[in-house]
Amino acid sequence: MSLDRTFDYLIPERLVGRIRPGMKVNVPFGKGRKPRPATVVRLIPRPERSDLKEIVDICDDVPEIPASLARLGEWIADYYCCTREQALKSLLPSAVRSGKVKPKKIRRCYLASPEKAAEYLAKAGARAKVRAQAIQFLTLHPGAQPDTVQAATGAKLPQLRALAKEGVLNIEEVRADRDPFRNAVIQPTTPLKLTGEQGAAMERIFSMLGDKRSDGRHVLLLHGVTCSGKTEVYLQAIARVLEEGGDAIVLVPEISLTPQTVTRFRARFGERVSVLHSGLTQGERYDEWMKVYRGEVSIAVGARSALFAPFKNLKLIIVDEEHDSSYKQSEAPRYNARDVAVVRGRMEGALVILGSATPSLESWQNAVSGKYALASLPNRWDPSIVLPHVEIVDMRLEKDEEDRVPMFSKRLVEEVRNRIHAGEQSILFLNKRGYSRQLQCACGHVPTCPDCSVAYTYHKHSASLICHFCGRIVPAITTCPVCGQSEFHYVGTGTERIESLAGALFQGARIARMDSDTMTNPQKYEEVLSKFRSGGIDILIGTQMIAKGLDFPNVTLVGVLNADMGLYLPDFRAHERTFQLLAQVAGRAGRGEVHGQVLIQTFSPENPAILCAAEHSCADFFADELPIRKELLFPPFSHLTVLHFDGEDPVQIEAKAGELVRRIAEKFPEPLEIGDATPAPIERIKGRYRYLATVRTPPNAAFRAYLRSEVMNWRRTVKDVEFYADVDALSLL
Ligand code: ADP
Ligand code: ZN
Repeated sequence: MSLDRTFDYLIPERLVGRIRPGMKVNVPFGKGRKPRPATVVRLIPRPERSDLKEIVDICDDVPEIPASLARLGEWIADYYCCTREQALKSLLPSAVRSGKVKPKKIRRCYLASPEKAAEYLAKAGARAKVRAQAIQFLTLHPGAQPDTVQAATGAKLPQLRALAKEGVLNIEEVRADRDPFRNAVIQPTTPLKLTGEQGAAMERIFSMLGDKRSDGRHVLLLHGVTCSGKTEVYLQAIARVLEEGGDAIVLVPEISLTPQTVTRFRARFGERVSVLHSGLTQGERYDEWMKVYRGEVSIAVGARSALFAPFKNLKLIIVDEEHDSSYKQSEAPRYNARDVAVVRGRMEGALVILGSATPSLESWQNAVSGKYALASLPNRWDPSIVLPHVEIVDMRLEKDEEDRVPMFSKRLVEEVRNRIHAGEQSILFLNKRGYSRQLQCACGHVPTCPDCSVAYTYHKHSASLICHFCGRIVPAITTCPVCGQSEFHYVGTGTERIESLAGALFQGARIARMDSDTMTNPQKYEEVLSKFRSGGIDILIGTQMIAKGLDFPNVTLVGVLNADMGLYLPDFRAHERTFQLLAQVAGRAGRGEVHGQVLIQTFSPENPAILCAAEHSCADFFADELPIRKELLFPPFSHLTVLHFDGEDPVQIEAKAGELVRRIAEKFPEPLEIGDATPAPIERIKGRYRYLATVRTPPNAAFRAYLRSEVMNWRRTVKDVEFYADVDALSLL
């Protein structure tokens, strides 16, 4: 377990000048034990105490964290109330940190010189036919690997070694990077001629890159509708930074980190791009990270953790889809990469561009208040590609023959059929995987996970019930354990059921489904996408996996099956999320020459989140939502921290949590607002009871420092109840 304490050690003479913050070193710790690894936090002038032990040596199997990043790690530990060790850990990918992954080496054979080779061939004659062939082969294929030489000539490695010994050829060991793109064919692209709007945004970026200090701002919010050409702006901003010898980081949400996205950067900048995300093998991750570390690349594209790419001359950080909640890490350190990007940018003098079609209210407020600069791309790059027409379908008016509400409205069925006839493609969106959300018996019983207080999701294909919180899988039951009957209904619908309904409604249509149940690896993902791109699929059904980033010109219809899905969650951001999701999904339609159309099925047609998404109007949504947040003192008008407690005994949790809440309330009176610890909306996960308390404060460094000391203290003193703070929480579950 982490001690989260710092200890002082002396730097022995032989290591003076070599120790820097961020480095891993071995130090004596405890009596008679083996030295243990520790991270250098800071250097201090010769201390007064005389009983200090000496650092033993530097661990050189692990690269050192650059000092600037080590400082960022300290900031993360302080701000997000976690241990220094947790923070430092997130700075290095595990493939690098573990010290277990090694660079891949291969052998290559080269002739020492043509003269030597000729000499050998003349001397050897018929005695050494195989070796002579190997030499001839290497004349034509310098650098061939021993295996290749053997396949072509029959010369085995010992024979090649013998030749090396005689000085005829050299066998060199070289690094062979495991390149995630080794199989990709990428057509290079050149900068496009910018539109007026793009040009204006670009000018703004260039001026901020040139002299950031003029107005003290180093963050630009780039608000551009879908298909406005934000990515082209990013690409040209990066090009400028590279011209001046700088480095750039591009963050995209994990879910939109498709090969399609990454390829655009590779196509423009080729080998200067490294890719960092969790879909890589450990070996690839190691190699990609080391390329940054050794300064062999200047651009890193990746998900959240790519923010910690160890560049030494960072000049630009781009956070695409800045509103995306996947930038927030759900385990310690619970950092938000967008916010940490702003901090890293400030620390290292880099410009930070936050891009989105639907900015978060936090970033929007920062732009409106002048803290961030703002550039807008209100139109699609090609004005003839107008934004799709959005039609709201009131599901309260829909009935099928049996007087029930159908999943597909008449309008949606009609429009999908039109598309199939016209040879155009449709996307159907529902943010819930599985067949039906729950099974429910006629007696009312709903099978529920015994460890988590949530209903099982029914998956028809595998005839199983799956708890989406803990992953428990049980066979689907056929008789009700309460009443003994077997009259189960399906409540709520998931993508799996939509797929089978669509199959029945649109006979002959080619349908594919894309969600985390079907997309179990990146290859499958690429397979479906390329089939869709080439027109081999008429209807693509999916969860939010298809909401982002995909760019298919032949998609002219997007149907949202149930827009209300996230609207009534117990979360003050429910409207914001619904608005963002609908706007993103709608952006998938009509990216080509044919005008796009979007149908939104809802039971709440007057809801502002849905109306504003239909109008493509962020401004209206902000105008509607901001006053509510202000009134209730929710972010962006306060900082929200959620205190999480969990344990086996609810009485004990309540008592311990109550004590802490009282201590905080006494120490920090208004304007800090703290609620009582109450059972979480999901009361139990994996058998443990959960309690939450929320704290809302104006920016208050003293409070955070105090809270951190409470968290650390708790780790040392309280046994049966776990406690952590989720600073700037995005989830209230
Ligand atoms: P966004 O990220 O804002 O949704 P993209 O950058 O993905 O938009 O652009 C959408 C499409 O428009 C891309 O295929 C891109 O190549 C094209 N595009 C963007 N800007 C221009 C431009 N100035 N000239 C020509 N094509 C452009
Ligand atoms: Zn469970």
